[in-house]
Amino acid sequence: MGLKADIMIQEYIKEAGGADIRCFVIGDKVIAAMKRQAQPGEFRSNLHRGGTASLIRLTPTERKTAVAAAKIMGLRVAGVDLLRSERGPLVMEVNSSPGLEGIETATGKDVAGMIIEYIEKNANPQGTRTRGKAKPNTPFEIGDLEILPGNHASLELEVARLYTQSPLSVTAEIFHGKQAGPVLLVNAAIHGDELNGVEVVRQIIGRIRLSQLRGTLIAIPVVNVFGFIHKSRYLPDRRDLNRSFPGSERGSIAGRMAYRYFKDVVERCTHVVDLHTGAINRTNLPQIRANLTNPDAAAMAEAFGAPVLIDAALRDGSLRAELKRPGFR
Ligand SMILES: [Zn+2]
Repeated sequence: MGLKADIMIQEYIKEAGGADIRCFVIGDKVIAAMKRQAQPGEFRSNLHRGGTASLIRLTPTERKTAVAAAKIMGLRVAGVDLLRSERGPLVMEVNSSPGLEGIETATGKDVAGMIIEYIEKNANPQGTRTRGKAKPNTPFEIGDLEILPGNHASLELEVARLYTQSPLSVTAEIFHGKQAGPVLLVNAAIHGDELNGVEVVRQIIGRIRLSQLRGTLIAIPVVNVFGFIHKSRYLPDRRDLNRSFPGSERGSIAGRMAYRYFKDVVERCTHVVDLHTGAINRTNLPQIRANLTNPDAAAMAEAFGAPVLIDAALRDGSLRAELKRPGFR
């Protein structure tokens, strides 16, 4: 049409006469409803467009339709707008954050209070676990950064140099909560060709809510940056980074990387989740390996809900073997 604009066409329900019904749904009930009448010459009945509200009695079908619409959208609180048509009630809109003022004024009901009552009745206090009293956090030092409580920072850490002198840097995203708590490291791609964990860490970074965080999260999507770029498990010295811990300052490139990574990142943590994947030509059952005799590590392992937990023997040189030292989970 040459307009270069998106056009949405909706059926005009003439018999509704410029009126719709706002049904306020909480749980599986319509707790309040009002009829909204548009101004003459206008078919949109929104109150902020000058529509007027009045009380209305819903039919059983209208109630059922409104509750079903909210349920289909997965909403436990919703404003469902219906039109009365010759074919019965038509759902026009399901609103996930409906306004309260209009419906409270029109119906005289304390809708906000009813929402709170519903949440109180349905909240699961066992759903979240907070042990002990919350203590305010102190600044977190890592690399050359000092992160104040309630802040996020990115750290670029040079862990080694290639034989060309080009630096190999690992990037860490650090979320430091306002309340004190454990320091959790989640890292992936210690084996450069194991990609699933990289996406897992990326999604964690996107979802973290600093305001709800107790303690500190260090998220590292790619540890073995060289292997990642070269689609390889190994480093250019053909060594496996996960067999090179604790490493040494003057060793091979894998040894140097392991040394710096352990000193500068891992030793700053109390808990570590090291993500691995079945790489190319390998098939792995989803599994958690942990020292299950350590109650904290066992609880962490169980939290994943993986089909298999392995009280795995430690492999020399692996990150996990190094973590058997006191103070780590
Ligand atoms: Zn691996």
